[in-house]
Amino acid sequence: MPHGRTAAHSAAFVAPAPRAAKDPNRLNPEARTSVTPVPAVIPREQHVISRKNISKAALRVLYRLHDAGYDAFLVGGAVRDLLLGGHPKDFDVATNATPDEVKKLFRNCRLIGRRFRLAHVVFGPEIIEVATFRGTGEVEGGEGDRHIVDGLIVRDNVWGTIEEDAVRRDFRVNALYYDISDFSVRDYVGGMQDLDGRVLHLIGDPATRYREDPVRMLRAARLAAKLGFTIDPKASAPFEELGPLLTDAAPARLFDESLKMFLAGNGLKSFRMLEQCGLLKFLFPATARALRRGDEALRSLIERGLANTDARIAEGKSVTPAFLFAVLLWGEVRDLAYAWMAKGVDGNEAWARAAAHVVGEQCQRVAIPRRFTITMEEIWSLQPRFEQIQRKRVFRLMTHPRFRAAFDFLLLRAAESPAIRELGQWWAHAQQLPQEVLAAALPASTAAVADSAAGAPRKRRRRKPPGKSGSA
Ligand code: ATP
Ligand code: MG
Repeated sequence: MPHGRTAAHSAAFVAPAPRAAKDPNRLNPEARTSVTPVPAVIPREQHVISRKNISKAALRVLYRLHDAGYDAFLVGGAVRDLLLGGHPKDFDVATNATPDEVKKLFRNCRLIGRRFRLAHVVFGPEIIEVATFRGTGEVEGGEGDRHIVDGLIVRDNVWGTIEEDAVRRDFRVNALYYDISDFSVRDYVGGMQDLDGRVLHLIGDPATRYREDPVRMLRAARLAAKLGFTIDPKASAPFEELGPLLTDAAPARLFDESLKMFLAGNGLKSFRMLEQCGLLKFLFPATARALRRGDEALRSLIERGLANTDARIAEGKSVTPAFLFAVLLWGEVRDLAYAWMAKGVDGNEAWARAAAHVVGEQCQRVAIPRRFTITMEEIWSLQPRFEQIQRKRVFRLMTHPRFRAAFDFLLLRAAESPAIRELGQWWAHAQQLPQEVLAAALPASTAAVADSAAGAPRKRRRRKPPGKSGSA
């Protein structure tokens, strides 16, 4: 058996816990009288979760905790996805051991987070997140702290029972626990029923839960897209009113959430769901504005960009956030650049200004790291240079480090106009020619192209791709 118990006895083991921890309420005894839903327990033979499909690292952590006398459950998306027959990309563990107790059990463990203190147990590239059951009790001091400002949870480190932990999770389908002690699944809030009905119900009062953490609205859209579930109307009703709260969410967190939406294999579905839920405008205001101008070519560019990214991920190829954000923001950058050029601003200057303006606005919402915004600006600023089909310029562009990305971007723009499509074909063909053949086919003079430098697409004199008519 590949993931047998022996796997648990790893070199990571340091020492047994100083005391057994059988009582699930020991961390917060006051909590015993608060919300304690009775779980439905689904025994091993009545569900499909097999240890074969759980990562070795997660099993090691679960067994180590269990052997030390703590409760140990697989929880969250991993349980949900395993029950749906999927292959989770990460495994989260919930336990009644405190982060410090977890740290004592694993040498390869680091404690992270202020808002949510967690233990990360590291196995090479894999990280198992171990969270202590979170409580609902308003406990001051003691074994944890919670801080709420205007309904928003800014810190949540009150430890509690598994029952409390369940009701603090976001969706019912995310509150299922796989118990390593007997391989059963515990369902405290009706998650199994929702998996059957393919629906996302928020636990508790939706408005309150969104005020506590507005990112839950994005999670609803993302999970509905990823799982092909519907969002319960009660959970989607507050989007319109409470969506603006997303503008106060931490931009760094929204960047992470954006990557999960757009770079995890379900980008196109996530984008459509975000739009359908009316949430896109809070995350990518410039994209929503450009789309509202009724630009169908832009929609086609975005949708094809996302579909290509999803396909690359499915094939195990690399993807860069820079390309994707360049796609999402292109409409606004292009329109602004053209507007400035129409007012007489020089082409290069207009593109640079437009890019800086759009990136500046976007980063207030979603903190795109600088290394990506630099690439985005390069991809955009290279676009007008594809029109300069003159010997030196063509070769200079082809050797630019960002040529490949910029060319792929040009191909996505094909729907913008027949001229752009033609340009894309010209460059695709040009890249296949031997250098001498291409050089011979290109004009050396700047006359034919001088006026297009960094300018808006203009009506180009049709130039036959070299070699096509035997001219080379
Ligand atoms: P994914 O498939 O993207 O990993 P996930 O549901 O596992 O989806 P994670 O961000 O890994 O998402 O979170 C793990 C679990 O933590 C969730 O299933 C849920 O139970 C809980 N959780 C995550 N974010 C929140 C939140 N904002 N509010 C309440 N519970 C949350
Ligand atoms: Mg997860």
